[in-house]
Amino acid sequence: MEEKQYLLGMPLAEIKEAVKELDLPKFAASQIADWVYVKRVTSIDEMSNISLKNRAILKSRFDIGRVMPIEVQTSTDGTKKMLFETHHNNKFIESVTIPDNDRLTLCVSSQIGCKMNCEFCMTGRMGFSGNLSTNEILNQVYSVPDAENLSNVVFMGMGEPLDNYDNVMKAIEILTADYALAWSPKRITLSTIGVLPKLKRFLEESSCHLAISLHSPLSEQRQLLMPAEKVYPIEQIVDLLHNYDWTHQRRLSFEYIMFAGVNDSPIYARRLVKLLAGLNCRINLIRFHAFPESLLQPSDEETMIKFRDYLTSKGFICTIRASRGEDIFAACGMLSTMNTNRQKRKKGEKS
Ligand code: SF4
Repeated sequence: MEEKQYLLGMPLAEIKEAVKELDLPKFAASQIADWVYVKRVTSIDEMSNISLKNRAILKSRFDIGRVMPIEVQTSTDGTKKMLFETHHNNKFIESVTIPDNDRLTLCVSSQIGCKMNCEFCMTGRMGFSGNLSTNEILNQVYSVPDAENLSNVVFMGMGEPLDNYDNVMKAIEILTADYALAWSPKRITLSTIGVLPKLKRFLEESSCHLAISLHSPLSEQRQLLMPAEKVYPIEQIVDLLHNYDWTHQRRLSFEYIMFAGVNDSPIYARRLVKLLAGLNCRINLIRFHAFPESLLQPSDEETMIKFRDYLTSKGFICTIRASRGEDIFAACGMLSTMNTNRQKRKKGEKS
């Protein structure tokens, strides 16, 4: 039997093609998009303005493709971490929602694990098990608790989003499309280590905010922290950003995790200023969350404040990002389903 396709994740143009193939009335395409993306139905049976006969035809080939999280953990600060099962056999991903006054931000995953192997990241330690489909990316947006109240989405969860470019861009297209959520691109931020060819395309093809994972202004040291530096050197990334016209109210920020005795002394602050001179950008300093096998340790508060004050004195907007959801391993760099996979596998073997 042919496997069913998912409507959630299909742009209107693809729904139109499907409607044509199934010989349904042309106008059914916008009705379907409206049910899936605006009315957020979880079953084709709920599409009450489509005839029973046509719903049956649609159901023969399609499902909505909504999957609820199999686990939700809540931090003492209100941050929630969700575990989703993917369509890949026995593979899981995590997403995080972060409430902040009247905002509710979803940190979305784009891959199962990651190829980039950054030294400080638990996702990197998992290795790479596959790209998420547009359906699996959008399912997080639609199926987390309080999904209807989300104000922002950040591609900062598991995976390097520019390494799954087509599916991520399709998800952004649907989030911002009039027939779907009609979000302003300014509600979406994509965070990347700087996959150069895709970064260039992202700048040309979208107007979402951009965050670059920097973590060291020195190439040799960045290579140790982030092996991808060998292929996508920070100098070339910054060059590319210099040549982009940032007058579109699009925000550029740099993420800088601070590691004690590694990248937190005044010399790094000075090199950072030199590297980013002339760029209209923000710098977010992030406290490192040490995990058991990590040799890296977090910088202390005083060092971080001095570092911030120096950058501020040089004209940069620089903030120390508050750490959220640390008690449930939901903070920056802490997402991993390595143990989950093992646990689920064990459970499966027993049953
Ligand atoms: S920090 Fe980002 S790019 Fe690096 S390993 Fe983790 S998920 Fe991948």
